[in-house]
Amino acid sequence: MRTDRFVEFDLQTLPANPSPPDMWQEKAACFGIDPDVFFPISEEEAGPALTFCGACKIRETCLAWALKNGERYGVWGGTTEQQRRRLQRQVA
Ligand code: SF4
Repeated sequence: MRTDRFVEFDLQTLPANPSPPDMWQEKAACFGIDPDVFFPISEEEAGPALTFCGACKIRETCLAWALKNGERYGVWGGTTEQQRRRLQRQVA
């Protein structure tokens, strides 16, 4: 099993063809939360967003979508911008 060392995800189990956010955003832990929370100014300020992600039932789909679509900004699927850049290099 290949698990990323920065976040607890087995990249091989992520959905290969994740559906777009409008298909699942109403089930998300962040639904209705101020979007600014998910676009912190620094990595150090990402804690509140990551807390929501930690309780989110669709985290893997969210992360798969962000990786597949090269979402560069904000917190997606329990990852910060820096963490996703590292993951992108793994899946490239
Ligand atoms: S994983 Fe995080 S950013 Fe993605 S839908 Fe869930 S709470 Fe929102």
